[in-house]
Parts: sequence; C-alpha cells; structure tokens
Amino acid sequence: MSAATNRFSTTRQDIAGQPIVDLVAQYGTPCYVYDMGVIRRRVADLKAFDVVRYAQKACSNIAILDRLRRLGVVVDAVSAGEVRRALSAGFDPHSKPHGIVYTADVFDREAIDLVKELGLHVNCGSPDMIEQLGSAVPGASVTLRINPGFGHGHSQKTNTGGPQSKHGIWHEDVDRCLRLADLHNVAVTGLHMHIGSGTDLEHLSQVCSALERVAHQIGRTLTTISAGGGLPVPYRDGQSYVDLDQYFRLWDTSRKRLEADFGHAITLELEPGRYLVAESGFLIAEIRAVKKMGENLFYLLDAGFNDLARPILYGAYHPISIAHRNGRTPTELVDVVVGGPLCESGDIFTQEEGGFVAKRKLPPASVGDFLIMEVAGAYGFVMSSNYNGRYRAPELLVEDGKVHCIRKRETYDCLIQGESIPPVSA
Ligand SMILES: *Cc1c(COP(=O)(O)O)cnc(C)c1O
Repeated sequence: MSAATNRFSTTRQDIAGQPIVDLVAQYGTPCYVYDMGVIRRRVADLKAFDVVRYAQKACSNIAILDRLRRLGVVVDAVSAGEVRRALSAGFDPHSKPHGIVYTADVFDREAIDLVKELGLHVNCGSPDMIEQLGSAVPGASVTLRINPGFGHGHSQKTNTGGPQSKHGIWHEDVDRCLRLADLHNVAVTGLHMHIGSGTDLEHLSQVCSALERVAHQIGRTLTTISAGGGLPVPYRDGQSYVDLDQYFRLWDTSRKRLEADFGHAITLELEPGRYLVAESGFLIAEIRAVKKMGENLFYLLDAGFNDLARPILYGAYHPISIAHRNGRTPTELVDVVVGGPLCESGDIFTQEEGGFVAKRKLPPASVGDFLIMEVAGAYGFVMSSNYNGRYRAPELLVEDGKVHCIRKRETYDCLIQGESIPPVSA
C-alpha cells in the first residue's frame, strides 16, 4: 500500500482554478463539476495495463466517455442504454480491443437484440447468457465472468464475489459452461474476475491464483484476462491508494505464466470505474438553513440524496468543504450534521453505515455559503433521481481552464415527460 494521503481541507475557493462563486453565479446549485485534469492523471497512472476498460456506470456522461476514448480508454456497458451511450461517444464495437463490451448477469430483450445487431462482445455472468447468446449469435466469442467463491468489497452491497453475491458464474460451474459453449458454437476467449473494491494485495494474489486455475480449465482459446475494477481511491485523510506497481506485477505475473503455458500472447485488461472519475467530481450545494436542534447543529442544503445517494445507500463518507460567499476562510471548526431538503429523515450526508447520524468538523457557515461534497465523480450524478419532484443537477466539465456545461439542469418538462392523465370514463 502506498503512503496515506492527508490532503482534504474544510475550506475551498475554487475547483480546477474556477472560483466556486463564479461557477454558482452562472450555473446555480446544486451542480456537479468534473476536473478533466484529474481524469487525465488517473488514466496515465494505469498505462502499464494493455487495455483500460472504463466501467461507465460510475459516470456515464457522453462528454466524459468521449474524452476517455480520446485518451485511449475503451468501455464496458451494463445495459442497452450504456451501449448506446458508448456509441454516441464514438466508440467502435469492432475496434481492437473491443471498443465496447457488454457485461452483465442477464440480457434483457433490448440488450440481446443490440448485441446481435452490433456484433458486440459479451462478458457473460450467468450460464443462461451463454445459451441465449449462442442462439442469437452462433459462432460468437465470449468472456466468462467467474465468481471465484470469495469476495471483497467496501460494504455488503458492493461485495461482488462469494456465495452472497449475485455476480458471475460460480467457479464450480465452469466445466458445465464450457460444454454449453461448445454446444452453442461459442468460443471462450476472455476470462474476467471482478470481486469488488479493496486494497488488500494478499487477497488479490488469491484472486490471481483462482483466475489462473480457471484459465487452465478454459484452455488455449483464451486470449484476454481481465482484472475487473475495484481500484480504491481515498475518501478521507489516512486512506490510501493501492500500490499500482505491485498490483500490476501480480496480474502481469499470472498473465506471463498463462502465456508460457498456452504459447501465445494474453492481453491484460483492467476495468476501473471509480478510480478514473471519483476524485474528479464535486457536488456544489448552497446552505439554505442553519439550525440548532438540541445538541446538533445542522447545515441544510439545496442538494439531497436524490443528487448524491452514496451516503444513504452505503453510509459512504465524502470529504466536505465550505466556500464562503464572501471569501472568508475561518480556521475554527464546529461539529455539524449536514442534511438535504428531502422529506425523508434519512436525507443526511454525514451518516455512517446503518444510518447512524454522524457529526463533521466544518467551519462556521451561514445561509448563502456553499458546501462542496468532494470525491463525488463516481456513482454520484449517475445515481441521482427525481425523487421529491426535484430536477437533476447540471454537470460541468472543467478542461484546460474552460468550463463546459455537459448536461443542463433539468426542467419541469423533464419531470413529467412521458406522463399523461387518462380521460375519466363516463
Ligand atoms: C462496477 C463494475 C466495475 C467498476 O467498479 P469500480 O469499483 O468502480 O472500479 C468494473 N467491472 C464491473 C463488471 C462492474 O460491474
């Protein structure tokens, strides 16, 4: 593990050089801001891997996808909608490596039709998918996502291996799947193991061994192995990145052993989501009420869990900073509970897993000051909703000193789009 970071500050005046007061004056609050410079650096960190396949579900705005494509990254899509997003951003399903791979545990009807129409490569997470793909696209090549029987994740809801996880093909089912593939004239060319976020390299070497065992079961049709995603980013002081050199070395060693055994080249893919975008993203909100309730001081914002769901879903911790409207940077700190506007008591940004309300040390602030939820680029906007009749926030991209609006704030029309009131029967 690399050295722990200590870099989060409780005050902030700008994002990527853009004064927060200016961003807000032009685009309002709440609003998401992404710093392209951070994304570029994260892509560069991973250059040792042959292929970096972005798990776009982390942040799927087509502008972000376009920029990642220009940086040489390819994408993963988990639904027909994500496949279409990738196409809109210019990815070519037939490039080498595959510009788009459909990865899921099921095909819905639209997805299997799209896979057939576009000839998409598929990463199958269930034996049923092999049969369904074989019937729709005889002669297809596939990747198998294997659940090695153990997992790792930062919460029960993000653990992606082991018997409690719904993901992947159970490791004892590999032989049956290979027979299914033969039966349906499907060639297994890829092997994938994504078992969730973690920094534990000891654990990772177990994953590598499991992958090698399955690779030998599959045999010489195999040309690509994927380490999946799950590279962590620090969400608070004291947390660290994984040691990428060591991480790469472990996977590369497995790859080289397989190359020696099979006598041909094996491509090593990585499939990060969070790592590429989390730290680039900020959610700016305005403080709309400051109130004392018994022991607790609350800052209530114009952003809620409809804008950023990770705290209510996982008890996730996001660094928080304050931008004072008048540019003050007070040094004293007070204990604060930060909440949103939604009519639901769980609408608290400072909560721990299990829903326990926690306090955060933040500078004194008043109505009209701005509060920034940091490291919000992954699983932030993409999980936002219209709950409580709220418009989803705009997304801004700061790139080379310029601010681009890459998604406008929704309007009332977006809210009722597709709804209709049927006539009353007489
Ligand atoms: C979500 C997901 C990822 C990315 O996970 P991160 O923790 O964001 O890196 C990668 N691969 C698959 C199949 C996923 O479902």
